[in-house]
Amino acid sequence: MKRKQILASTSLLAIFVLLLTNCKPKSDSDEETLLLLAAAASRICANSSFTGTTVVNSTATLDTNTDCITGMTSSMSADLPAWIRNNFKCAVGSVSGSNYVFRAQNIPNNKSYYFGSNSPMYETLAAGKTPAGTNQISSQCLVYSIPSNPAEKSGSKTGTQSGYVSVGITVNGLAIFNNAAAPGDVLASEVSTFDKFNGHPQNTGVYHHHSQPLNVSNDNANLIGILLDGFPVYGLLCDRNTVAPGDDAAPGTGTPALDSNHGHTAATVLFPSGIYHYHYAYDSTATTNTLIGSFFHGTPGTISN
Ligand SMILES: [Zn+2]
Ligand SMILES: [Zn+2]
Repeated sequence: MKRKQILASTSLLAIFVLLLTNCKPKSDSDEETLLLLAAAASRICANSSFTGTTVVNSTATLDTNTDCITGMTSSMSADLPAWIRNNFKCAVGSVSGSNYVFRAQNIPNNKSYYFGSNSPMYETLAAGKTPAGTNQISSQCLVYSIPSNPAEKSGSKTGTQSGYVSVGITVNGLAIFNNAAAPGDVLASEVSTFDKFNGHPQNTGVYHHHSQPLNVSNDNANLIGILLDGFPVYGLLCDRNTVAPGDDAAPGTGTPALDSNHGHTAATVLFPSGIYHYHYAYDSTATTNTLIGSFFHGTPGTISN
């Protein structure tokens, strides 16, 4: 084979390998292959067949049609249940066997200090807040695989702090973190670094919410997202299976109180026959509303980046 043909077929092979492995880091020591994989990685993680054009902070704008950053793909496949199809966006959702799969660039569809001051999506922090170092939002290749038939895990529950990139995805395609801060820090002090929508990025650029995503839910009963174990997440209040917001109430009022994992089983408008679901609730240690303590109610699926 001529060198050009060899390179072309190597590229195809590299792309194929990546497609199979969901952008997992390679341990391959072949430098040329690694270079090809690196070149292909940005296209595979964030091209039109997955999450759309890679977002560049300095040119990021909001697409008023999709309400997502311009160029990002926002699509939910027709075989997803209505509660996901009709509520989730700014990610690519599909069904694979007994799992829902979400691919997300994880870029917020709201302004943030953490886009950087040269971005059209930049805004200052609220008065009294302090920046989280020089951390900035950057495009990710988050792939969530979440069980579509969630059930309570019998026996001992799985911890939420076992190195997960994220414990769930919001309806606007963003990472959900639990109530723990990065090691060496406490959430109560990280609260001072949140942007006006309660989010901030890790040092690797993963934008996330430990507290209510204010772009989605602000002390109300809105659906916020889904956790890795397949159970839905709501705001501070439970809608108690009525559309009118007047009788929305904190869990424990007309519904069972929250368990130690911030969840309870009750009927909601989206799940009229009842389902276990999580709620945000005030956490006096963190001095903010947080989600989920140390354990998942069900068996978590997987996440890679
Ligand atoms: Zn954080
Ligand atoms: Zn509830």
